[in-house]
Amino acid sequence: MTNSPYVIGHQQPDTDTICSALAYAHLKRAQGADAVAARAGELNPETQFVLDRWDVEPPEYLDDASGERLILVDHNEHGQAVTGSREAAIIEVVDHHRIGDIRTDEPIFFLNRPVGSTATIITELYEDAGIEIPGDVAGLLLSGLLSDTLVLRSPTTTETDRAVAERLAERAGVDYEEYGKALLERKGALGEREPSEIVLGDFKEFEFGSAHVGIGQIETVTPETVLDRRAEILEAMEATRSERGYTDLLLLVTDILEEDSTLLVRGDHADAIAEALEATLTDHIAPLPGVVSRKKQVVPNLSPAFE
Ligand code: MN
Ligand code: MN
Repeated sequence: MTNSPYVIGHQQPDTDTICSALAYAHLKRAQGADAVAARAGELNPETQFVLDRWDVEPPEYLDDASGERLILVDHNEHGQAVTGSREAAIIEVVDHHRIGDIRTDEPIFFLNRPVGSTATIITELYEDAGIEIPGDVAGLLLSGLLSDTLVLRSPTTTETDRAVAERLAERAGVDYEEYGKALLERKGALGEREPSEIVLGDFKEFEFGSAHVGIGQIETVTPETVLDRRAEILEAMEATRSERGYTDLLLLVTDILEEDSTLLVRGDHADAIAEALEATLTDHIAPLPGVVSRKKQVVPNLSPAFE
């Protein structure tokens, strides 16, 4: 017997990854196809709040995808994917990030759009298919969209995202500004977390030539609660870097309200990384004015640091 294909997002799942997996699995089933939503890690507090709010069960946890069929949402790089993804068959991709290293033996449906969230693309797939989005699914999709775009404030936000957010909010029956504010508050609750949780809570891995780089990000309305603990956080970063064999480890502490970030960095290319981001390090820390997006304002600018 063959298992159902899993619709699954990246490790250290965020709200867009979880909600997109749930909504896309729902769309597949509405179209008569077989698909089960899955997740590659623990839910963060913001996503738990979303699932409670819309009264939806979390996707099932998949600890090893070897031998399975996978529909990837919100990522397309093995370094970010569920354990065993290299031994799985990737049968579809729906994403809004840089094109990574996924390879397949056969042609597949691969949809990547430069918009603010995967949820935006999945909403359009529902509309293209002429399938009505149920209220709770609209709530999930709206949550993914507002979380990724920081309530339409991030530079990743497009006109498409704004229009889709309005349609989803209407269908879900919420005011998206008000609902978005409640979401962002969940992102902010960081004070009590362990330093390693702060570093790894929203974490992605990237290859730049032979460099193996980890980049964490914290989006918060109270960056000082994180930066006040910079000594222990830098220590946790160095420990994580040597344990996991990264050449470099970055942490972006993003102030959602002021719309800028502070960079913390440990590793072999620290000064070159800062230079590539037009910043200057003092004790492993540098301000990054106007930077809020890892995907759009950090990752694309890093390559020169590793040449
Ligand atoms: Mn994501
Ligand atoms: Mn996303």
